[in-house]
Amino acid sequence: MIIESIGVQEIFDSRGEPTIEVELNVPGSHSFFAKIPSGKSKGKNEAVTLPFAEAEKVLQNGFAREIEGFDGETVEELDTFLLESDGTKQKERLGGNVMLGVSITFARALAHERGKELWEVLHEEFFPGADTAKKPLIFANLINGGAHADNNIDIQEYMAVVETKGAYTESIQKLISFYERLGFVIGEERDVKRLPIGDEGGYSVNFKNNFAPIEMMEKLILESELGDKFRIALDAAASGFWEDAQYRFEGTFLSTHELIERYKEYFEKSKLLCSIEDPCDEDDLEGFKKMVKLADSRWIVGDDLTTTDPERIKKSAQEKRITGVIIKANQIGTLSETCEAIRVAQEKGIRCIISHRSGETDDSFLVHIAKACGADGVKIGAPVKERISKYDELMRLYP
Ligand code: PEP
Ligand code: MG
Repeated sequence: MIIESIGVQEIFDSRGEPTIEVELNVPGSHSFFAKIPSGKSKGKNEAVTLPFAEAEKVLQNGFAREIEGFDGETVEELDTFLLESDGTKQKERLGGNVMLGVSITFARALAHERGKELWEVLHEEFFPGADTAKKPLIFANLINGGAHADNNIDIQEYMAVVETKGAYTESIQKLISFYERLGFVIGEERDVKRLPIGDEGGYSVNFKNNFAPIEMMEKLILESELGDKFRIALDAAASGFWEDAQYRFEGTFLSTHELIERYKEYFEKSKLLCSIEDPCDEDDLEGFKKMVKLADSRWIVGDDLTTTDPERIKKSAQEKRITGVIIKANQIGTLSETCEAIRVAQEKGIRCIISHRSGETDDSFLVHIAKACGADGVKIGAPVKERISKYDELMRLYP
């Protein structure tokens, strides 16, 4: 597959923030596109994201010419070229967003040439033994707090975790009804008709404390007789409320021990709470370790802690800081490294959740990564706006 040219356009994500779309052209007038999402609550070790104007300059100042005529048959060959050409630790020169766009469009071009889907190309190259029929759990963020909302809740995400045994159509329909019912109940309690919505489509209203949304979701799940299909997960995104080596939580400062005591209470009070992502700050490594011990069979998931970096995932698994991991391709910046991160996690028995970002587009490449590797979960937000494309793709790829 020869690359004829590449280009970059400015587009806007679901928050109305600018991001980029990469275009790759191959001989025969075929063009391939990739829209890159963007995050708000970022880990310190994520690949650098270049704003559109800088991304355009990188291309004009030589990179577009450098890549012209590149010829390769695997995604890894292309990514090796990108990594060598960038030559920096956090992808400062080319930008992780530009590199990922080139990586995805190239994989799409290979898929087109072979008459295949993107997930098939990734499966064949990176995960030949994976079970592509395995249906990932859906992590749908229905109540937003922290950096994703303008309310009094410290925890960033309250998610319904939906298990699908038959067709996705049925479980997604149940999720949509549940999301609407939750909105109705929240609105009725507050006597408002139109609820504010956070970055990932979840309701963004005040609650009496950080446990109240769990309590409300649990009550509704049980009342709706969904207790066998729906559970609850949190993304605390605790780096967002970590200040001077303490947690600013519900208006006071808590030590690691005190915060963990809160989580312990949550586990005791909620039967359905099955997973907590980033329960502690990314530098509070002892906190993560204690959470894994406390959580028992519930998942403790790394995101800001691990940043889709194979080395960080390996270390976190060895040190027993996590039992699950969030995979966001734009945290690391190429498909090969993303797939390597998944392989490392899978080898260590760590569950993989392939995730969206808070600033999303209608590109659904994350669902293809999930199918290619037989992921345990997909995290795609509430079933609204740009997130709908991911739900549609789930239904299409798992008929
Ligand atoms: C997250 O923290 O898991 C998330 C999706 O948010 P962001 O994209 O802002 O990092
Ligand atoms: Mg997170």
